[in-house]
Parts: sequence; C-alpha cells; structure tokens
Amino acid sequence: MSEELPPTPLLSTERGHHSGIPKRMESEAKLAKARLFSNKTLPDSVARQREIPRLPPNISRESFNRAMAELREILGDANVELNDKPLVDGWYMEHPNTHDAFHITDQEEMVCSAVVFPSSTAEVQSVVLWANKYLIPIYPISMGRNLGYGGAAPRVPGSVVLDLGKRMNKVLKINARSATCQVEPGVSYYALYEEIQKLGLPLWIDCPDLGGGSVLGNAIDRGVGYTPYGDHFSKHCGMEIVLPTGELLRTGMGAMEGKNGTDNPTWESFQPPYGPYSDGMFSQSNYGIVTKMGFWLMPETGSKTYMVVFPNDNDFEQIVEVIRPLAQQGVFANIPQLRNVIQELAVFGKPRSDWWNGKGQMPREEIRKHATALPCGDIAWVFYGCQYGDAASIQSQMNCIQKAFSTIEGSRFIYPEELPDDHYIHARTKVFSGNPVLKEIDWCNWKPNGAHLDFSPITPTQGEDARIVHDIIHRLFKKYGFDLFPTLTIAGREMHYIANIIYDMSDPDEKRRAVELMCELIRETAAEGYGEYRTHLLLADQVAATYGWNDQALRRFNESIKDALDPNGILAPGRNGIWPKNYRGKGWEIEGPERILSGKIVPPETKTQPAASARSSRL
Ligand code: ADP
Repeated sequence: MSEELPPTPLLSTERGHHSGIPKRMESEAKLAKARLFSNKTLPDSVARQREIPRLPPNISRESFNRAMAELREILGDANVELNDKPLVDGWYMEHPNTHDAFHITDQEEMVCSAVVFPSSTAEVQSVVLWANKYLIPIYPISMGRNLGYGGAAPRVPGSVVLDLGKRMNKVLKINARSATCQVEPGVSYYALYEEIQKLGLPLWIDCPDLGGGSVLGNAIDRGVGYTPYGDHFSKHCGMEIVLPTGELLRTGMGAMEGKNGTDNPTWESFQPPYGPYSDGMFSQSNYGIVTKMGFWLMPETGSKTYMVVFPNDNDFEQIVEVIRPLAQQGVFANIPQLRNVIQELAVFGKPRSDWWNGKGQMPREEIRKHATALPCGDIAWVFYGCQYGDAASIQSQMNCIQKAFSTIEGSRFIYPEELPDDHYIHARTKVFSGNPVLKEIDWCNWKPNGAHLDFSPITPTQGEDARIVHDIIHRLFKKYGFDLFPTLTIAGREMHYIANIIYDMSDPDEKRRAVELMCELIRETAAEGYGEYRTHLLLADQVAATYGWNDQALRRFNESIKDALDPNGILAPGRNGIWPKNYRGKGWEIEGPERILSGKIVPPETKTQPAASARSSRL
C-alpha cells in the first residue's frame, strides 16, 4: 500500500468543506483509499483525444464562447470552469464533476462542456434564463456521487453542469421538537450527521450504504436507506424548485407564505398542499432544479442488529416467504437485507484474485471453501436485520422473528458481539441507526480499477417471483462471466433485487460484457413483467420503454409535461428517458448496447465540433 497518497479532504477544510469526510473517519478513509489505489492499474488520467471543451450539440464555438463570457458575468469568473483539463476518475471521496467516474462507454464521451457553481436560488434562476437564451442544455447535480447510475455526467454530452453542492450546502433549519430539517443540495449524509451530533440532538438521519451522497439529491433520485426512515422520498417534506423557465415554485405547505413573508411554519411537517400533490413529478425527472428540501428526522431509539444465516442455496424462496408477513405486520420497522454468501467474501475488500484466480464466475465450491473458514461458516444466504424500540419491545420482536425463522432448517442467529471487530456487521449496525460509514466502498476492490453498475428490478415479495428473477440474473451473470452479488431489500409487498456488476474499467472486454449483460437483463426481466426502480443514465431509455403499457402512454404523458414546463428543452434532456420535443425523433434514444459500446451517444446527424486533434479554447 502506498503511503504517498494525498489525504482525503476533510469536511472541516476549505477543500472538503461540503463533500469531504468527517475528521473522526480520517483513518478509515485513508485505509479505504490506499486499498483502492493499490488495486489500480489505470493512470490517474490520460491525454484527451477529442476537442476540448466538448461543446453542446448544435452550438458553434463562437456562440459558446459568447455565452460563457456572459455566464462569467453572472456568476463571477471563479464560479465558471471549463471542462478542459485531463479527466480524473478519482475515487468515491474525491469524485469528478466533469464526467461519469464509472464510465461504461468511452471516458470522453459522457462529459460536460463546463461546470458552474451557483451560490443561491436566485443565481440558479439566472443560469436557467441564460440557458434559455443560448439554448444550451444544463444538468444539475447536488453532490455528483450517483456512481453506478451515471455519476455527475450529463446525458447530453457538452451540457453545462450546475454543481449546486459546492456553494449551496447549508443545513438551513433543524427543529428538534418536530424532528425535521431543511437542507440545500450540498448537504451530505456525513455533514448532516455531524451537524446533529454537534447540536447534541437525540435525532437520527437515515443514510444509504455510503454517506457521501447528497441528502436532497438521493431523495429526488428515490434512493433508500436502512432505518425505519429508509424510503427517502417518502420522508421528504416540501421543496423549493427552479422551473426550466426560471420561475420559482414551492411545493407542499411551503407553497403558503408564513406570517410577514417568512417560510410557512408547517413546511417540514405536512407533505401535501391543498390540491394535487405535485412533489412526485420532481423525483426521477427533468422538470425542475430543487434548491431546498424539508425532511423528517427519526427520534433516537434503541436498536439491536443481528444476522440470520441459512445453510442451503435453495432456502431462498422460503426465506422470502417468512419475511413477508413479518414485514407486513410491521415487526420489521426498517427494510432488512438478504445477501448471498459471496458478499461475505467481497466485503473484506480483498481482490477477487486473492480468493480465486480463474476465469468466469467463481464456482460455488470455491465460495464454499472460503466461506467455511470465515466466522459465519458454510452458509448460503445471510439476512441482516435490526429491531427498534426499548429493550422489552425488542425482546418481544426477537421472539417473534426467531420463531418464524426456526421453520427454516439449519438457520442460525448471530449477534455483533460474537463476531470479530473487522466483520461487516459492525458497519451495518451503524447504518441501521443512521450513522453513515465508508465500509461499502471496499467491494470495488473485487476487481482492479473496480467500478459497479447496478441492476435493480422490483418483484412482489413472493418466493416464486423472487425465484424467476433470481434465475434470470444468475444465468445471465454466468453467461457474461461476472460474479453475482445479490442484495435483496425486502419489504412487505415488494422487494428490490439489487445485483451489482463489478467490472474492471481498464478492460474493454469487461466493459462490453457489463453493458451487454445489463441490456439483456432489462429485456429478459421485463418480458416476465419485472421493471427496474432506477438505472444508469445511458440505460434510461431502455428501462423507460419497458414501462410501455398502452402504446407508451406513460412516456407520452411525461413528454407532454416536459414540453409544457420546458419549452426550449434545456433542462437535463434525456434524463430518466424523458426527451423534450427539440430532441425527440432525432436519434437520441438509446435502445440497446451497440451505441453505448461504440461510444456514439450523440446521433450522427447532430451538428457537433469535429473530433479533430485536441484544441483548447480557453476564454
Ligand atoms: P448523489 O447524492 O449521489 O451525490 P447526485 O447529486 O449525483 O447524487 O444526484 C443524483 C441525480 O439526481 C443527478 O444526476 C441529477 O440528475 C439529479 N439531481 C441531483 N440534484 C438535483 C437537484 N438539486 N435538482 C434536480 N435534479 C437533481
């Protein structure tokens, strides 16, 4: 491991002031970074081959330069950066805002022309007006850590990225009595957690597996976490939104002015306003730029983490059947996870080659051999659960759960105190009580230059559905030579089957197989009636098309809204498969792997600068 790596930026410093790591996690970050970089063979960056900066489609260099000069007037020189430097993928804690750090096509294809840093809602409005004037597409990010789903990349290459997080990163309110807060886009889970600790409040946040994402950005992309408040969008309360015409909107109770022009006192307390509840339209869409958002926080409570391990591969359906009634009855207050034994190896953070160096999927017997030597032994499935409340309540819940799982032969309960300090369960214990960690990043070490691409279909919480999806995923992962890491987050009526493809970004063949695998997974599961809840930017058209009942009625409805709200089609065209009318029918939609693999994201008829030798046009 190299000792020379520069330290991870801290939240408390100027460099890491919004996206850095808390001081208390400094040594953890140092180790995680060292592990990743010791497993990296790609250079930090390579010389760019295409013209820089990459211009938006149908915009001449002259007009772009004129537009950028005006933008500098609006935001100040320091807050407009051309994307004309080498592209650096970095790592989770030092991620780029210039492109997709986990590229699945050519690294230079999914790039922006410039990144700008507004400091207020009013400045966001000015940038939107500017975009309408020059017809330059803009792409808002909060933190830009949407890794596995496109990162910070815009769907239309050459768009201008609005990095909201850098200068709009305040926790605007915390109300301890109502257990609510209001945040700007640049507040990460780490930052919100630290703020609450600093104030000494008995409140929990809810965080995903990693804590560097934006609380606001994750919620509007409908991300999930692991406390009883894990459905992030359902726990948001009221938004402030800049519409694609530059108009300003507040939703929920925020739509009503408080006394003397103050914020409404119930903004963060009650979700719908009078009339239609429009918030959902601003999640997984390109209808507005969210500049403020209210959230509910969970009152601190007791918690008890545990694992249940199951010995047989074929226990799978029965486990799902046992979980369903417990989840429906509310015995599980959060969304527990069911994982496969192979993840017990992967979460160690060691390269796959340390376990097995063969080609194709790691054989079951190899997994068994190594698992047998680990603390949980020769198992097939692992359930990570957590119960909440006071000691008596937790005990009565545990009695119920133990009785239910005892129907599965050979199942065993294991508790954190029985496991070594470096076991993954200790990271789960923190996440289950809203304490954001960095542990999950270790997975990427499975492959050198490891990146992940996530396939996440939804099925009913029923053994037979879970089996159909599992069999498709298992067969196709094997066909394309990838190890399968199934994580099932199981609720009472539906479950997310999350299958991570871990691939080596330096290996064009692995990238090709990863993309082809994703496209085939989407097709095959859709044919059985199962759809994805979220996907990579470049697969959005394909996934959106699977929601095609009644001759694509939903897509056409989404397009009508898009055209009404964004007549010039400037805001994140193509995001979530929603194309404005000035892009539709011009070949932007990507329906299979070929265009992604050939790096031809922009349709050939589009006027772009020629892909000549690199030439910078710094202003
Ligand atoms: P993360 O929280 O993982 O860092 P991002 O900031 O990348 O997430 O947000 C995820 C996606 O959600 C972005 O790619 C962008 O398309 C969209 N998004 C993020 N923030 C906003 C926002 N404030 N307004 C509108 N869309 C946003």
